[in-house]
This record gives sequence, structure tokens and C-alpha cells, in this order.
Amino acid sequence: MRIPEEKVDEIRAAADIVDVVSGFVRLKKTGRNFTGLCPFHREKTPSFNVNPERGIFKCFGCGKGGNVFTFLMEMENISFVESVEMLADRYGLLITREGGQQREKPEDIDAMYEANRLAARFFFDTLQGEQGAVGRTYYEQRGWTTETQRSFGLGFAPEGWHHFLEFARAQGLSDDILERTGLIIRKEGGSTYDRFRNRVVFPIISVSRKVLGFGARTLEKDEHPKYLNSPETPIYNKSRVLFGLSQAHRAIRDLDAVILVEGYADVLSLVQAGVENVVSTSGTALTPDQVHLLSRYTRNFFFLYDADSAGLNAMLRGIDIILDEDCDSRIVQLPTGEDPDSFVRKQGVEALRARLDSAVSFVDFITDRYRSEGKLETPEGKTQVTRRIVELIARMDDPIRREYYVHHIAEKYGIYESVLYSELAKEMKAHRRPERDRQQPLRHGAETPPQEDTNGDIPKEEKEFCELLLLAPSSVQTEVLHNIRIDYFHDARMRKFLHVLFEQEEHEGTINTDALWRYVEDDVPMHKLLADMLMDPIRPVSDWSTKQNVQPTDERRVLLDAYKRVVKRSLAVRHSELQQLTRSNPTPEVLQQFRDLAVLLRIGWDDITTFEAVPDLEVEEE
Ligand SMILES: [Zn+2]
Repeated sequence: MRIPEEKVDEIRAAADIVDVVSGFVRLKKTGRNFTGLCPFHREKTPSFNVNPERGIFKCFGCGKGGNVFTFLMEMENISFVESVEMLADRYGLLITREGGQQREKPEDIDAMYEANRLAARFFFDTLQGEQGAVGRTYYEQRGWTTETQRSFGLGFAPEGWHHFLEFARAQGLSDDILERTGLIIRKEGGSTYDRFRNRVVFPIISVSRKVLGFGARTLEKDEHPKYLNSPETPIYNKSRVLFGLSQAHRAIRDLDAVILVEGYADVLSLVQAGVENVVSTSGTALTPDQVHLLSRYTRNFFFLYDADSAGLNAMLRGIDIILDEDCDSRIVQLPTGEDPDSFVRKQGVEALRARLDSAVSFVDFITDRYRSEGKLETPEGKTQVTRRIVELIARMDDPIRREYYVHHIAEKYGIYESVLYSELAKEMKAHRRPERDRQQPLRHGAETPPQEDTNGDIPKEEKEFCELLLLAPSSVQTEVLHNIRIDYFHDARMRKFLHVLFEQEEHEGTINTDALWRYVEDDVPMHKLLADMLMDPIRPVSDWSTKQNVQPTDERRVLLDAYKRVVKRSLAVRHSELQQLTRSNPTPEVLQQFRDLAVLLRIGWDDITTFEAVPDLEVEEE
């Protein structure tokens, strides 16, 4: 399961963060750093920094930060291990794993990607050749230009049972890999044949341009299924992929909006018409993972689904999922019986843009539906509608948004605001969403991301001490580390940070900032914290390592002073807690402790000149 630490270090050292980030962000050299427009939030002036020396990035706008792995995890919505694998692959380093059999061997994963890449090539080439005439005719009839076909890598799987199989074998791919990639099927007797036959093929490509799987449409009228997709494989998970995202992600970010459609054809026709921020869920209802993936690029979703009851139901489910990711959705309405592909072909892109412009909020959409059903005409109906709307509004995290919708609904549909607010209060009390745990490392996309925070709530004394410690020379770090008490630090993140330093010191006998990452692995909040501390422009001593005239004694003294502030703050916090207790629970012990603390706080702190002399008090953990 685990990738050995040394290997992770080696890959991190080999990976050039500027090179990797440049794949997504246009970077400009400014002094020792590179800067650019942040890929994680919308901005006009660059606040995204990359420090190649330390191998870290940090955005001073939205607070994202970390190392090269964190960057890929966040950009590509992948796990830590996947990010390590991706970089190993890119820089030609082999990964050997410690233990664990359930996971695919990395060479198998590579082979599967390779199999898909070759398959995409094969289908594409077949389309251009003699056997591809049927496919070409189909694409022409759909109105997709060769330019569109090329940019999406559209292909054709020829009629017959073994065309691809023979091609793949000749390329040196094993039947085993082909079967596990879902490209061939094995019959009970053991013989094998091509999965995709006589179908037009749409490759599903990741943001990093890997072929994950395929969707394929039959050209026969009566053949079932009409669409055949790759089965679930270690590299293709249909609830986590979106057709068109590899092309659309930049446009989605630039326009700060994504248009969701249901089919491959919708994506192709819209992109060809010049509407580029489109993706399709292709063969699955919108999933939380997909919304999560898209939320990295925008929080504004437009549903452009087929104007039929299936489309409607899919949309209603999608609205809830989008709300749960704290994103906003609007609904684009098409004439009955139309889908985006047919609409844009019949009426043109300007008509489509007009529809997009008049998209309604999901709240209006749902309320309008009730109104058209006559539900707003009876008191019972009104109560029912109110309840449903309030349910939706209660799921919004942002109070300003909630207020906006309450006001809007009240005005538009003649429901009293006070009624809406009192229902809302009930609903929110009943279904309070659990606080997102900030310490939770980010795993696969299924989980909610840790909340962004600017570290504002870390006590400044604690953060300052830790930053100074991080920048001090190694010998001083070790010495200081052995003379402090972690209990005095109240912030869980700072305690964790110090534990990481301890762990490294214990394992390696020294502190080495560059290798600290191996102790935080896939803990994204810790990555952010480290990047934060390593690339914070405001700090009392800018960078000791480059200052020749700073003596070790100075460093010790600065750290000691910082530590004393941490201790004093901790004692003061405890003091005021005890003060409360002297009123609510005035036992003799409480009173004694309270008096002791008061004395401690008044001692001559300025006279303390060594770490050993700092009072050592049993502090109860918060
Ligand atoms: Zn940012």
C-alpha cells in the first residue's frame, strides 16, 4: 500500500514544481519566486506564488498552499498516492511499494493507461481508414467537423471480433491487461474478443490528458445497448469522470461557470458552436464526486438537460448534490422534446446563449413547477411548497445567500418572509450539517474538502514561535525542541506541527525542512500550513539561513522570547478558565490552583534567560 518514504522524497526532489505548475498556470519570475494567477480562485492580479528553492506554492488570495504533490492533488482531484505516481511517471522514476496486495501494481496501472492510449489511437486511425467510412458518415451526419473529431479524439471500432485484440497483441500488450482495462471480454471457455465493435467511440480523457475509458455508440438501429461504456476499472470510475473536462477546464475557470449536459453529442455540438465550458456526465446521474471535481474550477453550475421527464428528474437530484457542495445552480430551459445538441443545430448558438442568459435559479425553477401544478393556490399546497423551498435554502452555508433567496421567494410568490424565516430556523436546527473537520486529511474525492481558512484562529504567539523555529538553524532547532512543552500550545495544528518536528528529529537525528513533507504525507491542511510558514512574507526575522551576522545566541534568545509569550498566553488562558471555576465550582483545589497561577503570571519573566528556567506547569489539555 505504502510508497516508501525515500521514494517519495526522491520523486519530490526530482519534480520541478515550476515545471509542474506551469502546466496549469502561466508563471512569471519575480525575485526568488514565481508568480501567476491562482488556479484555485478567480483573480485579476497574481497572488499565487511558487518558490522553487523550497519546492512549495502558496496563494495569498485564497490560502491554498503546499508542495508539488498537494498541487496535483488539488488540481486533479486525486489522492496523495496518485499524485506521487503521476510524478514518478512524468519524471521516469519507478515506484516499488511496501506490502499490500489489493492495490494494482503501478506497472499494471501504467500498462492500463498505455492500453487505453493505444486503443484510442487504434480507433482514431481506423476512423480515418477504409473500415472507418461508416463512422465518418455518422459523424458527418451529426455535423461534427474533422476539427472537432480530431480535438476530441473521436474514433471508430470496426466490425468484427478481433481487430483491436490483434493490433494490441502486436503492440506487446497482454490479454490480461486488455481484459482488466475492459477493452476485451473473455468468454467462459477462455477465448477473448473485442468489447467495442462496429461503434463510434468517444474517449474519456482526464485533465492530465490520460485516456481513462471509452463511451461507444452503436450504429445499428436495433442494437442494445445504444451506448456502451468501459466497465469500472482501476483507472476508470464513472462516478468520478466527466466527458469533455480535459478540453473544458480552462474555459470553466475563465468564465467561472460550467454547463452540465447529459450526452456526448451535446458536448461536441456545443463546443463546436463555440460554447466551450461544457461537460457531460455521460451515462450516469450527476454524482457528488463530479460536483466536487468541478467545484475546483467554479461554483456556478448551469443545467442544460434534455427537456423531458428523465432530464427533469436528473436535474432535481443534481440540484441537491450541488447545494451540498455549497455551489449554486441555474436551470436553462429548452423547448419540450429538445436536447442541447438538437437545439443548437436547429436554432443556432445565439439562441442558445439567449437561453443561457435567461437561466433561472434552482429555487425559482422548483417554485415555478409547483405553481404550474396549481399548488400555490391552496393553503395546504402553499405550506408544502414553502417546506420544500426552505429545505433547499437551509442547505446553503452562506447566510447572505439564504437571506437573498428568502427575500426573493417571499416577494415573488407572496409568501410572508417571517413564515419563511421561522420555517428556516426549524429546518436548520433539525438538520444542522456537521462541522467539517479541518484536521481531516483529504482522501479520494468522495469527502468534502477541508474548509479554507487563513489560519486567523491560530494564536499568533504560537504561530510566530513555530515559524521562527522552522527557520532556525538545525542545531538550534534540536536544542529548542528538547526544551519546550507541547502542552503549552493550544492550537491542535501547531501541536501537530511540533509533533512532526519531533518525529523527524527522532528518526533522523536532525531537523531538515525539505524532508519534513514525508511526515505529513497526504494531510492537505498540514501541507498548507507548512507552505504558509515557509512562505509568509511578514515575519520578524526574514530568513536566518541567509543572514551571516546573526549569531546562534541571538537565534536562541529570539526563540526563547517567542516561547515565553506562548507560555504566558497559555497560563493566562488557564487563569481565566480557573477564574470562571472559582465562581461555579469553588473547591479548595480550584482556589489553590488559581492563586498559584496568579503568582506565576507575575514572576519576573524578563529575567528568564534560559529555556530550563521557564516555569514548567502541568497544563491540562484543552
Ligand atoms: Zn488562490
